[in-house]
Order: sequence, then structure tokens, then C-alpha cells
Amino acid sequence: TQTTRKPLIAGNWKMNFDHLQAIAFVQKLAWTLKDAQHDYNDVEVAVFPPFTDLRSVQTLVQADKLELKYGGQDVSTHMSGAYTGEISANFLKQLDCDYVIVGHSERRYRHVESDETIAAKAKAAKDAGLVPLICVGETAKDLERHEPSAVPANQLRGALIDFKPGDDFVIAYEPVWAIGAGSAATAEQAQNVASVLRNVVRQALGEETAAKTRILYGGSVKADNIVGFMKCPDVDGVLVGGASLDVEGFAAIVRYK
Ligand code: PGA
Repeated sequence: TQTTRKPLIAGNWKMNFDHLQAIAFVQKLAWTLKDAQHDYNDVEVAVFPPFTDLRSVQTLVQADKLELKYGGQDVSTHMSGAYTGEISANFLKQLDCDYVIVGHSERRYRHVESDETIAAKAKAAKDAGLVPLICVGETAKDLERHEPSAVPANQLRGALIDFKPGDDFVIAYEPVWAIGAGSAATAEQAQNVASVLRNVVRQALGEETAAKTRILYGGSVKADNIVGFMKCPDVDGVLVGGASLDVEGFAAIVRYK
């Protein structure tokens, strides 16, 4: 990571923790990190709880003035209307979300979300004043036919169609073969793709935007492999799934230094 970009350590809870468990978790996390504030105050910490937990997390963060960001795991392409089951970016903004994940591989593949859909979600997030956390990554099958960076670079180009120089967004490079797999990509693999992704931003939106945009690595990140990723010049944080569900484990990732 470069000192000009504040690292982001993000926990994607996926479909784990109801709102009562979320309250207990956030309270415990805040307490666990408190004593080590000086150790991690140069990183941003965010959690991505299920929609039904967000109001509880908001209440807790505001009441206790926690330095914790949060956001939704997905968002509608529409702002309101007859879209049964969907959640508007405006609703997330009303809950003081900072971020929203778009294009997570579990949505790309299980819910067959196209690059166009993901571009529209990223735009909806931006229009509502949220920072989209755009996930890209290749499957094991993609790797048989393409360079490691080819599919993620294409996905990123597609997602940024409505973005302009200066716009805020975060990229998460998450090789699908490393998600929930137990074994992560190597730091070298992450750096190689991250630098290609930064070039995609440079070509699409210019040097300034490329220099300020944070690129995270995700896929089986744990306390014992985060240091390698954080040493990569183009990796500015991590998106953590499984290991973000354990307070001590996630706190150890936040305090990686
Ligand atoms: P994992 O998930 O850390 O459990 O591999 C990462 C993600 O899907 O964001």
C-alpha cells in the first residue's frame, strides 16, 4: 500500500449474524480494538452486515461514537418502486452507510448478475452518495483460458462505465478460486492483478483517480497472511469473509502490523 491511500480492512459477514448477534459482535469488536487504537488508527475498518442488521449497527456506532464504517452487501439498480425484495441505495444512505458491496462473486454467479447490472448498481450507489466497493475476480476455469488479470480487468472496465475522473469507489480483487477456499492467492499474484486493475482505472479515469483509488485483496485472508498483502504496493487493504466472523480473528487482522 502507498501512504497516500488509507488502508481499508473490511469484513463481509455474508448471510451470518442476526441483528442481536450483530450488536453483540460490534460491541465486542469495539471493546477488543479499543486498547489498540494507536496500533490501527491509520487504517479504516468496515463491516458489511446483512440488511436486517444495519439499523442496529447504526444505532450502536452512533451511540458509542465508534470509529467503524459499515455498508450493505448488495443494492438495487433502482432508487424506489415496484421491485419486490430489493433495497435502494437511498435507504442505505439514510442508515448512514458509507459503502456498499457490488458485484460480489456470490451474486455474479449465484444470482447471475451481469457486468451491466453491476455497473448500474455501482452507479446507483454513487448517485446516492455511497462509495461502491466493486468486486472483481476470475474463476479457476477462467484461469485455464485467460491471463489471471484478463477477466477481472474486463469486469472492472464494465463496472466503471458511468464513472468520471475524481469519483470515489473501492475495488476488491477477489479470485473466486480463493474465496472460502482456505488457501489465498500469493501476495505476488494479488499484486500483479492489482497493478493491472490500477492501470484500468488510469486508462478509464486518469492518473489522479488511479492514484487515490484503493484496491483490496479478498479470498481466504487471515491474520497469518495479511502482512504479505499489505506489503504489496498496489494492495490497499483486504476484504475478509470467514475470518471476519470471529472477533479475535478479525481484530488480529486489523492489528496486522
Ligand atoms: P473469505 O471470503 O475470506 O471467506 O474467503 C472473502 C469474500 O468472499 O469476500
